[in-house]
Amino acid sequence: MTHYLITGGAGFIGSHLADALIEQGHEVTIIDDLSTGRFSNIQHLVDHPNFHFAIDTITNVVVLDRLASMCDVIIHLAAAVGVRLIVENPVHTIETNVMGTEAVLKVALRYRAKVLLASTSEVYGKGNRLPFKEDDDVLLGPTIHNRWAYAASKMIDEFLGLAYYQEKGLPVVVFRLFNTVGPRQTGRYGMVIPRFVQQALNNEPITVYGDGKQQRSFTWVGDVVEALTNLAENPAAVGKVFNIGHQKEISIYDLAKLIKKLTGSQSEIKLIPYEEAYADAANFEDMQRRLPDIGKISKQIGYQPSIDLEEILKNVIAYHKE
Ligand code: UDP
Repeated sequence: MTHYLITGGAGFIGSHLADALIEQGHEVTIIDDLSTGRFSNIQHLVDHPNFHFAIDTITNVVVLDRLASMCDVIIHLAAAVGVRLIVENPVHTIETNVMGTEAVLKVALRYRAKVLLASTSEVYGKGNRLPFKEDDDVLLGPTIHNRWAYAASKMIDEFLGLAYYQEKGLPVVVFRLFNTVGPRQTGRYGMVIPRFVQQALNNEPITVYGDGKQQRSFTWVGDVVEALTNLAENPAAVGKVFNIGHQKEISIYDLAKLIKKLTGSQSEIKLIPYEEAYADAANFEDMQRRLPDIGKISKQIGYQPSIDLEEILKNVIAYHKE
């Protein structure tokens, strides 16, 4: 039995990860300040003898220290997330991502806990050589565009994590998440699939930003969780960076059409100019494509996405109907 600490454990991905680790017989402690996470995501776990929680921020070092002292592995998911939240709260984004990760690595070193560090496909920025590979060069936009602060803050996290590994021998694994979807994900912070599904179920207009030709590939949260538990148990993954994603792309316009079809919705599909979509649209840049190369993680732990978009959407639609 391993004792895991999940930062951001009441969030969408963190709570699914907690479920899986408890199911596997591990001990799980989570810390979450409920800024974007929700207590209802972990409510069903609170009476489990192997589950513990602290509602607090990871920058409360006294609390973080106590929790880390009891754990073997820290999976660091706590971060500012969601494009809407990020472009509207750049100070919060940069401070949470940089100072939070610094705090986690410091306590991990104190107790020699292994760290799995969440990063993001955003770090590939405007790279146009697809699919994105872990050792590709990165091209970010200028500093006046808030979106790139998120990518840059996550790159600092990666640098810091890898530096702790190289310089101090701390076992650190970095993973870059691509668009992940599943139950408990909310559309409140901008994520496209929960937004479209709710709009479709309510027969409201489905809001496609820009011309809808931008493409994404979506991964089932269960596949991400399985990848994380396998990476945590794989000693040879230490000191490396891994993409976690799915390799099938769809345009956002076609995604809207598919969700409309699968829900049997009467919604119209409405193109919304970026200026109307984001408060600070002048400082906003969307990414046209974002596709992972998953060769490295497949080779390391045998990772393969188990389900395709249509099945993912059916699960998400069923969740939102409930
Ligand atoms: N998007 C959209 N309508 C929405 C929310 C998002 O058309 O109501 C688009 C967004 O502009 C982007 C894509 O969907 O091109 C994915 O957005 P999301 O915020 O889910 O993830 P990310 O941009 O980080 O890939």
